[in-house]
Amino acid sequence: MKAKYLLSALKSLRGKRYIHRAGCPFHLEFNEILLTGYFSSVGEAIEAASIAGYPAEPCPFCCEEYIHKRNYSFLRGIVTEPVPVTESDFETPDVFVPGAYIN
Ligand SMILES: [Zn+2]
Repeated sequence: MKAKYLLSALKSLRGKRYIHRAGCPFHLEFNEILLTGYFSSVGEAIEAASIAGYPAEPCPFCCEEYIHKRNYSFLRGIVTEPVPVTESDFETPDVFVPGAYIN
């Protein structure tokens, strides 16, 4: 189901504009609306805004669910990365044994 999204003219601290769902209380009436459109997800709205030349980010209030999903997928990517293991990780003894280094 598609929902209506707005691109606010106000910039965030990161210099990006906020994408709001229609009816979000944090999109104030005096803020200029740059774009409006019906999209099936927030990500789609962000993509459309960036194609139009406005780098955008989701509003943390009305697009909270999208931000949680995105952060969760970032975290999963970090956790499931393979850990680099080298041969020296297994061969280095914890205790120095002088005889072990003489060939
Ligand atoms: Zn909002």
